Amino acid sequence: MTIDTILPTPDLFAARRILCIQPHYDDNDIGAAGILAQLARNGVEILYLTVSDDLMGVVDTSLSDRAAAEALRRDQLAAGKLVGVKEQIWLGYPDAGEYNYFDVRRDLLQHIRRIQPDFVFTCDPWLTYEGHRDHVQTGLAAAEAVMFAGITKIPSGDPAVDATYRGHINGIAFYYTREPNVIADITAAWQTKQAVVRCYQAQFDPAGLDELVFGLDVKSRQVAQGKDFEHGEALKVLHPIALHCGI
Ligand SMILES: [Zn+2]
Repeated sequence: MTIDTILPTPDLFAARRILCIQPHYDDNDIGAAGILAQLARNGVEILYLTVSDDLMGVVDTSLSDRAAAEALRRDQLAAGKLVGVKEQIWLGYPDAGEYNYFDVRRDLLQHIRRIQPDFVFTCDPWLTYEGHRDHVQTGLAAAEAVMFAGITKIPSGDPAVDATYRGHINGIAFYYTREPNVIADITAAWQTKQAVVRCYQAQFDPAGLDELVFGLDVKSRQVAQGKDFEHGEALKVLHPIALHCGI
């Protein structure tokens, strides 16, 4: 049994500008391309921020780092076009490598204060058995940056951005979660989601992409069980205040 927060679940469909913070190039899309494509179609501004350079996941190991980075960006821009992403931001921390958590959090604070989203998407850092440190660090840094966005005494590295921030974040949505409180109906966007994840050719060979789409198909049907739609995406949507001390 889980006990829900006493705060109401923020309304995702009231969002106007969403910043989606991911550890690797494909996580936002694997986790939430269906709902994000639908929101973009409704006129919501969608921006993606990628924390790592993702170079470890490239299947063609004969590529130079430069060529691999170009292939990853080509794939991500193609996928972003299908979703309707307005802007892509890359922080370039070393994939599966050594970097400082507080540097990431500082960079996220800066982008959040500059962009002023009213909703943030990221991966759930408390996913049971998540073994990839990039995922844990990114999700936690994003959650802290959402909580601390308005506390401008915590510096973002850009004093001008800190001095002028007047934004307000209504909610945070975690994908890759085992404790969802929102199952988004993505049936109308299911074909788009498949096409989006199939853009990631630098990271998956054709068989790997087939396997990924098959897995997403099964999962999306599983989370929609008992609902009146066929394909769903599972999200934990919280008010920023609910991110601290279990309120
Ligand atoms: Zn990832």
